[in-house]
Amino acid sequence: MGPEPFVKSTAPDGSNPGAPGLEVIVVGLGFCGLTAAIECRLRKMNVTVVEMYPTSRTQGDVIDFFGNGGMIIESWDNGRIADKLLPMSINNNDTFKIFNAKNELLVEEPWLSKPHHRRRQFAGHRGEIHELFTDYATSLGVQLKLGEQVVDYIDEGVEGVDRKVGVICKSGLKVMGDVVLCADGPKSLARQKVLGLADNKVNSGYAIFRAHYFLTPEMRKNIHLSRFCDPDHDFTGMWVGTDLHGLIYSWNKGRDLGWVLTHKDEEDISESWSFPGKVEDVLACLDEAGFPEQFKEVVRMSPAKNLLDYKLVWRGPIATWLPKHDNPRMIVVGDAAHCHLPTSGQGGSQSIEDGAAIASCLDKAKGDVSLALRVFERIRFNRQHVIHMSSVANREEYHKVEWTREFVDKHPGVLSIPRPDWIIEHDARANVDEHFDKIAEDIKNDKQGNIFELSVPAGGQLGILRPGQEEREVYDTTFDLEDPSIKPVLRTPSVAA
Ligand SMILES: Cc1cc2nc3c(=O)[nH]c(=O)nc-3n(C[C@H](O)[C@H](O)[C@H](O)COP(=O)(O)OP(=O)(O)OC[C@H]3O[C@@H](n4cnc5c(N)ncnc54)[C@H](O)[C@@H]3O)c2cc1C
Repeated sequence: MGPEPFVKSTAPDGSNPGAPGLEVIVVGLGFCGLTAAIECRLRKMNVTVVEMYPTSRTQGDVIDFFGNGGMIIESWDNGRIADKLLPMSINNNDTFKIFNAKNELLVEEPWLSKPHHRRRQFAGHRGEIHELFTDYATSLGVQLKLGEQVVDYIDEGVEGVDRKVGVICKSGLKVMGDVVLCADGPKSLARQKVLGLADNKVNSGYAIFRAHYFLTPEMRKNIHLSRFCDPDHDFTGMWVGTDLHGLIYSWNKGRDLGWVLTHKDEEDISESWSFPGKVEDVLACLDEAGFPEQFKEVVRMSPAKNLLDYKLVWRGPIATWLPKHDNPRMIVVGDAAHCHLPTSGQGGSQSIEDGAAIASCLDKAKGDVSLALRVFERIRFNRQHVIHMSSVANREEYHKVEWTREFVDKHPGVLSIPRPDWIIEHDARANVDEHFDKIAEDIKNDKQGNIFELSVPAGGQLGILRPGQEEREVYDTTFDLEDPSIKPVLRTPSVAA
């Protein structure tokens, strides 16, 4: 039997570009902005990225990219970016293990759901991966304005004559171009300044303790840490308990360790990536949920300066990513448009999909920026929205069920992070190729309908399986488009006794 057939995404080779020289401004050098910058540059556009952080290296701890985001990375520089990324990622691991609070192994599933994901599923230190992509972007000629905080957006001139859009930074720097891609993340100022929305910040009721550190020779002697220090096997595992779930990853021949713990947090919180956490607070949570000594020891070993308490403030969906304008030349993308909770497992991958898709739309629209942005929205809206909502669905599933071996044995796969083909085998570039012309025609013909109806279908739906139910219950993910500033819209089915 030959290898299984699979989609291979092809990077643009720069021949016959649709919009060469288009001046693209990207706000935010997260993975969405970075991908958009790389993909636009590969299509011969001129790209300037404005980012308020001065460097990459230290940002974040562990981030995952699955096949759908990873196939874009795999295609860059004839595979050379993936070659560099693999040694710094979890690449030597057979299974992902799921335990309950009593440390009973509930599920053990392959880390790579399919063999061809070996070069397109990556998990590693966010800062390191970010630095690699940033170096690639710079080598292509992307202009970076680092340490520059955007404080306002400008739209001036007359369409078809001298229209320009751009940004003003706190330092006074002004950058103008043909289009602004606002990839400024969950706290997006663009949503307020460009879309005219109030900040619809929602306290999710949860926060995440998280840390990354290097395992030392001393730690290798600790019996509780030994399984994470194995030079021959990386470790990936998750523990689930009532209102709590945590992950531990170790990689790089037993040298890197990252852990995260999502826990209840009802305080009125502000959001930041750098909010310091306290070991004793984490241990109190673990004690209350009856988590095993092994998890506690991993927490105790975390250097205080590396421990963060990231408050999970998120945003509900918004009805449009475009400003009210006949010819929009700005758009919000990535987490600025749909702020994933980490439990979708898709925040990083979706930001890459968005970045690749927006560049492809700009290319295909051949300089008609407004058309490109409108088509992009309709190609991406339903898919992004359903996957965005899965972050809430998954978390509810982990936290609200008392996980027993009996239940998991009866319903194999119920605890797995859902990775159906419609999510992880999706090629964001090919999807634009498939739908661009038809959606462009709809827009030119002023086809009527709401955004759910006018957009390309998501391709799949969300379901949840509870104790007492035989079939997955499908979520209704639609929301009130007139008043989308409401709280999270997912109507979670009640938990069966
Ligand atoms: C510092 C940081 C650490 C993270 N760590 C992790 C992690 O460890 N694990 C994980 O799974 N996910 C992490 N994430 C989130 C994850 O990277 C994103 O959810 C996902 O990749 C979506 O990317 P994005 O580019 O849409 O948004 P983001 O990654 O949030 O990027 C937005 C970017 O815009 C910049 N920005 C915002 N406002 C302005 C402004 N006014 N002017 C200029 N620049 C601005 C931000 O500094 C940021 O670099 C982190 C995000 C950040 C910003």
